[in-house]
Amino acid sequence: MKRSFPETVVEHAKHIRLLGLDVDGVMTDGRLYYGADGTEFKAFHVQDGSAMKRLIATGIPIAIISGRRSEALDRRAAELGVPHVFTGVDDKVATLDRVSTSTGIETRLMAYAGDDLPDLPVFDQVGLSLSVPNAHPAVIARADFVTATPGGMGAVREICDLLLGARE
Ligand SMILES: [Mg+2]
Repeated sequence: MKRSFPETVVEHAKHIRLLGLDVDGVMTDGRLYYGADGTEFKAFHVQDGSAMKRLIATGIPIAIISGRRSEALDRRAAELGVPHVFTGVDDKVATLDRVSTSTGIETRLMAYAGDDLPDLPVFDQVGLSLSVPNAHPAVIARADFVTATPGGMGAVREICDLLLGARE
């Protein structure tokens, strides 16, 4: 069954031309797995990946903005053909501005999904702020829309469905 979204959220989503994504807690459940040799593992959801590819193919590029560096993420982003990937980011707003300059897409025409306090300044810049049920309560309180699906369990697919559905 197709999930329905609140009308006001869909109205905002119609204008969105780029999706920004935090990684830990949004594309994953937020847990970091460490191997004995220091290798870091993350678990991504396969349905998020197929939806991200569909969104990009429709003409809505994705920008991944993560505070952490991760080879697992680099690999996943390359596999999905994500055009803008920034890792080890201190200032997410400055990074979003760089994306805006390079794409010519104003930040108010962007959606951004995040789960933790460093994501809040980005919420102030974008046209549609999105979060997940496993987010910090202050982030949930500030988001325009919170997915029903937790981060790492298909939340990004839900967001992609929202943006794709709004354009229909
Ligand atoms: Mg996060």
